[in-house]
Amino acid sequence: MAAHTVYKEPAPLLDRENPLESMMSRFNIAAEILGLDDETYNVLKAPDKQVIVNLPVTMDDGKLRVFEGYRVIHNTILGPSKGGIRYDKHVHLDEVKALAAWMTWKCAVVDIPYGGAKGGIICDPTTMSAGELERLTRAYTLALKDVFGPDRDIPAPDMGTGPREMAWLMDEFSKTSGATSPAVVTGKPLVMGGSLGRTEATGRGVMVSTLAALAKLGLNPTEVSAAVQGFGNVGSWAAKLLFDKGLKIKAVSDISGAYWNDNGINIDEAIAYKNAHNGRLEGFGGAEPLNADDLLTSNVDVLVPAAVEDVITEHNAGDIKAKLIVEGANGPTSASADPIINEKGILVVPDILANSGGVTVSYFEWVQNRQGFKWTEEMVTERADRIMSDAFEKVYKTSQKYKIPMRIAAYVVSIDKVAQTYKFRGGF
Ligand code: GLU
Repeated sequence: MAAHTVYKEPAPLLDRENPLESMMSRFNIAAEILGLDDETYNVLKAPDKQVIVNLPVTMDDGKLRVFEGYRVIHNTILGPSKGGIRYDKHVHLDEVKALAAWMTWKCAVVDIPYGGAKGGIICDPTTMSAGELERLTRAYTLALKDVFGPDRDIPAPDMGTGPREMAWLMDEFSKTSGATSPAVVTGKPLVMGGSLGRTEATGRGVMVSTLAALAKLGLNPTEVSAAVQGFGNVGSWAAKLLFDKGLKIKAVSDISGAYWNDNGINIDEAIAYKNAHNGRLEGFGGAEPLNADDLLTSNVDVLVPAAVEDVITEHNAGDIKAKLIVEGANGPTSASADPIINEKGILVVPDILANSGGVTVSYFEWVQNRQGFKWTEEMVTERADRIMSDAFEKVYKTSQKYKIPMRIAAYVVSIDKVAQTYKFRGGF
């Protein structure tokens, strides 16, 4: 008999700072400030549940390939767990654990009744056909049918997934559970229970928190320049909405490279170009090519990292010229960079606050699905903007009260809410 071919990819080793350690080091500082008791600390430091699934999928060439998938439920004390699913070559269990915990803090900071979770599958969606991705998504849903549920755990899109994958997930879950369940997942296509305003929600929240931070710094948006790293859903919407507010977006980037225009990039043109060119900016004529690494240290007032984790590190933090960093991505700044950034006096609107507009509108989608009543776009944006600005004010006040950076203040607000809930619920 021929030797078996092993198609399962081994989990790649992290070649960067471990995001779980980055998350924990901030958590530890906030826990210390709050005087968090040992019992609650020990409950919160590890996820409630970690599920690893093996997903056999028939590929288009007829061969069976086995993928590894994860779903980590960090905490459910505040409500059913919520968080996206990531399809990427570099998905790693420690990364998923960090992202799940960030969802707990994120939902608590915007005061929505959810716990935190995250999922991921080690795969390269860019090389897979729609049929392969559909079979993979259905296999993942089936493997996790007892974990997911409108009152248990509610997935959403993240890197490498979007409304199409959410539709497959909703369909597979509905078929296995015997009832059409739109509220099991958010970020669905509009026609099947998606919410108006969900697509742009994360970028919109980044815009709202950028304007709130500029007001604190006494800066006029129309006199301010910005660089946006990442031109996917979050980055392109953040750039577009900031551009509409009059900021001069001097630099943008995607996987094809970075682009610079000292007079400001017309973001409407950049988005139209991207949509017409396979989702990429390569060859965009409205700007000059810029070395991708230089975007983060370019001469702008506002920096919006909206791509992946650990791009601002101890190696480049000292060269950052921006006065304000607004984190569209999850975990773009590694913990080792925090002291350097604080020393330089840069104001940071941290990920768990800045990008929480996405999960906020996911919450609205879930509420609408359960109400069986569709909200208007005005209702969605007006409510989401209010939640974002209230959360910003709360975190800003906490940072002033304890004389701590906004990042730690956001953790303080979140951990305090979760810890208080544990006190009321009791029952260990
Ligand atoms: N993946 C997004 C995030 O990291 C959205 C999560 C959701 O809407 O549940 O916040």
